[in-house]
Amino acid sequence: MKVLVFNCGSSSIKFKLFAMPEESVLAEGLVQRVGNLDASAFMKTPGGKIELEQALEDYPAGFAMIKSMLLDPDKGALKVLSEVGAIGHRVVHGGESFSGSMHIDDQLERGIEAVFELAPLHNPPNLTGIQESRHMFGDIPQVACFDTAFHHSIPETAYRYAIPESFYTDLHIRRYGFHGMSHQFVARKTAEMMGKYKYSVNLITCHLGNGSSVTAIREGHSVDTSMGLTPLEGLVMGTRSGDLDPGIIFYLHRKGYDTESLDTLLNKKSGLLGLSNSSNDVRDLESKAAAGDSKAALALDIFAYRIKKYIGAYVAVLNHVDAIIFTGGIGENGATMRARILEEMNELGIILDQEKNESHIGIAGEIQASDSRIKIFVVPTNEELAIARDTYRMTS
Ligand code: ADP
Repeated sequence: MKVLVFNCGSSSIKFKLFAMPEESVLAEGLVQRVGNLDASAFMKTPGGKIELEQALEDYPAGFAMIKSMLLDPDKGALKVLSEVGAIGHRVVHGGESFSGSMHIDDQLERGIEAVFELAPLHNPPNLTGIQESRHMFGDIPQVACFDTAFHHSIPETAYRYAIPESFYTDLHIRRYGFHGMSHQFVARKTAEMMGKYKYSVNLITCHLGNGSSVTAIREGHSVDTSMGLTPLEGLVMGTRSGDLDPGIIFYLHRKGYDTESLDTLLNKKSGLLGLSNSSNDVRDLESKAAAGDSKAALALDIFAYRIKKYIGAYVAVLNHVDAIIFTGGIGENGATMRARILEEMNELGIILDQEKNESHIGIAGEIQASDSRIKIFVVPTNEELAIARDTYRMTS
C-alpha cells in the first residue's frame, strides 16, 4: 500500500510517500513560502529531482503543485492519485481528547479546531492541510497523528501546574508535551535493539533539535516530559528560552513589554540565539566557541547543563533506568554535545565511551562504556515513518 504523509506548517508543506509495509520511500518533497511570489517546490524520487520556483498564492495552490509533481510523467511517483491507499497527517496539538492517532472525519476536524487556542501557530495550518488533502484525495482514508498523544499517559502529578484548579478545569491549562511521535519512535526502536518487549523498558529519550524535549518513559509509556502547555517549557532550544522564573514575565510586562513582544522574545529571540547573540545552530556555535567566542561557549554550556538537570530529574522519577537515548539533529550528530551533557554522571551509573560516542554520528547504536549501569543509545528519529506506520496500521 502507498501511504502519503503530510506535515503542514504555516507557509510550508512537507510530504513523503512510502510503500508499506516495506517502508521504502517512493518520493519526498517540500513546498516552501506558500502565499509568496517566490515560493519554491522540491521533490526527490528514485527517478530524479524536480525543483520549481513560482508564485503560490495559497494552500490550494501548494497542494496543486504537490499533485503535479507526484503525477509528473518523467520524475513522478504516481500515475493516478488513487494509487495512494491512505494519508497520514502530523497534527501538533491533540488537547486532552486524543490519546492516539485518529481517523479523520468532520467531527475530528472540529476536535482539532477546538484546541486552536492551545497551538495557534500549528493547529490552524495542520487543519488547513487536512481539509485541502481531503478535498484533493476524496475518499482515500486519512489519519491524524498527534504530537501530544504519546504523552497522554502522563499522570496528573506530573501534568498539573500548581495554580488553582479552575485554570485546569475551565481553561485546560496543564502539561501536554510534544515531539510524541519522535519519543515513541525512538523508544520502540531502542526496545527492539535491546531485544526487549516495548512495554518492559524504562527510558529517558532526549529529542534535541531546533526544538528540544526530554521524556521519562516507564514500561513503554510516557510519564513526564519537559515541554508543557506549549513547546516553550523545558530545555534551552535554538530560539526558545525553555524554563524560566515566571516572575521575569511580570517584571518585563511592567517595564512595557506587551504580550506579543514577550512571545517573540521568549520563542524567537532567546535560547542559543539569545545567549550567543549570534546563532541558533549548535554546529555554528561549536565553531565559534572553538575560535574563542565566549558567548557561544556559554550558550552551549547552558544548553547542556539544562539537559543534564532533566536527565537527573528523570532518573529520580523512574528510579530504574534501562537506557538514555539521543535523537534529533543535535542528539544524533552532536558527539561533542552528548559528551558535554553526560560529563560526570558516573555516580548515577551513566558513563559514556568516548570512542563509541565519536563513531556514532547519525547512526544507531550503543555508546556507553562497559561499566555504565545505564545504557546510552543514539537512535535517528523518523517522525514521517512513525506517521506512515500508524496510518498503515489503522487503514490496512
Ligand atoms: P528541527 O527541530 O528543525 O527538525 P534538527 O533536528 O534538524 O532541527 O536539528 C537542528 C540542529 O542540529 C542544529 O542546531 C544543528 O546545528 C544540529 N546539528 C546538526 N548536525 C550536527 C553536528 N554534526 N553536530 C552538532 N550539531 C549538529
